[in-house]
Amino acid sequence: MPVIEDPSDPTSCSVAEKEEFAHFKQEIYQKVLKKVFQNLKQRSQHGEAHCCADGLNQVLHLGILIESQDAEEPAYFCGCRAASAHHPCPKCLVAQSDLHNILGNFELRTPQSMRAVLTEASKAKTMAAKEKILKDNGMHNIEHFLWDFRFSDPYKAYSYDTLHSDDLGKWGKHLWPLLLDVLEEHNGQAFYDILKQALSVYQKCCAAVEREYGKSFNFLKQHACSHVPQDIREKGTVDNFSTCYSEGFQQEAAQSFGQTNMKEAEHQMCIIDEKQEAIARICMAIDNDKKARLNLELAEDINEREVLDLESESSTTWRFGSPEGKKMNLHVVAVNLANDNHRYRSLDERLRDFIAFNMPKEAVQMQFEDDIYVQRYKCVILKYQSVEDWTEGTDIMHCNPDFHGRHCFDCVIIHDDAPKLSVARLCDLFCCSLPSGKTLDLALVHHFSCSQWKPRTVWDGCRVLYEEPDTTLVRMDYLVRGALVCPVSEQADEKFYYFIDCIEPDIFL
Ligand SMILES: [Zn+2]
Repeated sequence: MPVIEDPSDPTSCSVAEKEEFAHFKQEIYQKVLKKVFQNLKQRSQHGEAHCCADGLNQVLHLGILIESQDAEEPAYFCGCRAASAHHPCPKCLVAQSDLHNILGNFELRTPQSMRAVLTEASKAKTMAAKEKILKDNGMHNIEHFLWDFRFSDPYKAYSYDTLHSDDLGKWGKHLWPLLLDVLEEHNGQAFYDILKQALSVYQKCCAAVEREYGKSFNFLKQHACSHVPQDIREKGTVDNFSTCYSEGFQQEAAQSFGQTNMKEAEHQMCIIDEKQEAIARICMAIDNDKKARLNLELAEDINEREVLDLESESSTTWRFGSPEGKKMNLHVVAVNLANDNHRYRSLDERLRDFIAFNMPKEAVQMQFEDDIYVQRYKCVILKYQSVEDWTEGTDIMHCNPDFHGRHCFDCVIIHDDAPKLSVARLCDLFCCSLPSGKTLDLALVHHFSCSQWKPRTVWDGCRVLYEEPDTTLVRMDYLVRGALVCPVSEQADEKFYYFIDCIEPDIFL
């Protein structure tokens, strides 16, 4: 219902003038509502034949069963006096001083009883007597347009609105500001006390707040609770008559109405709404895209993991992923790579030495001229058993010069005979096909050694590592899991790193 502003200055009006304007507004509202609903009056009395959804013809009597409104609206709709009156409730005749008593029984308004009040008032001898009768019943001297309708009791139809009575009314307007005041004056104990009381019955809680802080609960929305049980019994759960759902729509509609020239506004409002909807969708698409990009890196990792997990039914603790190029002759690969990067220097010879040293049986059968073919990989999944809870964990380790636009050479823990954990940085991963038909999985790594340099403040368990410039070949089954190191400075060529063992309990143990 639109708010009708007083065209004169309300502050300069006398009480009588204010009352007169309030009465005038009431009359206008009732006349407008009567006009709006006039088509239903006849039908509510005599009914109308209608083919229902079940295919049966029925006589339907139209009526208004639920009104969901806020603030002054129920008073205007019901022709009652406003919230500050002696009897402000649109549903019953509760007195202003009894509004806090939500367990009380008060005489309900009915069309018959209210009509009787008007009749009585019309017989009053003096103006003052008439006014007194009306005031004692919280009424204006107006006939309600619904009194002549069947199945439409305006007082019964007015329903408890959770949005305005609970969220914005009792809490937002009355208790929340009080709470802020109290918190400003007291310490956290006051908050705790209030919270404790809130667990008790609501009525008791209100009484306590009233005693302690002098907060009067004689306001209409507090009293509205007392009608909730009956409302629920007659109309179902409170969401059936909450304005919560249509409030947003109404605000949007009011906004688009404000943008029209007020003439045949419906069509203009539709166009504005269409545009708003399109803008909202574009915004949503952009937001979703941003979110998707953020998640892309993560999702790719997960996909990689899933693909690899499917394949990894073998007993090995590692599984390569992201193959780089095709399987090629080791000699060709070594020459090509050595041109670009010193860490691949004499890779062919080193690999043959490695085989000779670690796999003598294989080395005996192998001639120097025999070709070894290698497939390079950029990622490996390491499976390990956590020493924290003995569950199986996996680490996805990358050695990729262009991982989402940046270098990514992860560090791993190497299982060797050293007393402390050995750490190395992955440079490359190879699967070598030997002339005998066997395959050998190797990692090319930079080992970390214990550094001579120490920070000025050495803490318990502080380990500084030095990244060796030379690379070494390591069998894949020596790789345990991922490790975390942190460069000592932000210099690009920093070779000193702190070993971080305090982030994950598993590494710490
Ligand atoms: Zn009431």
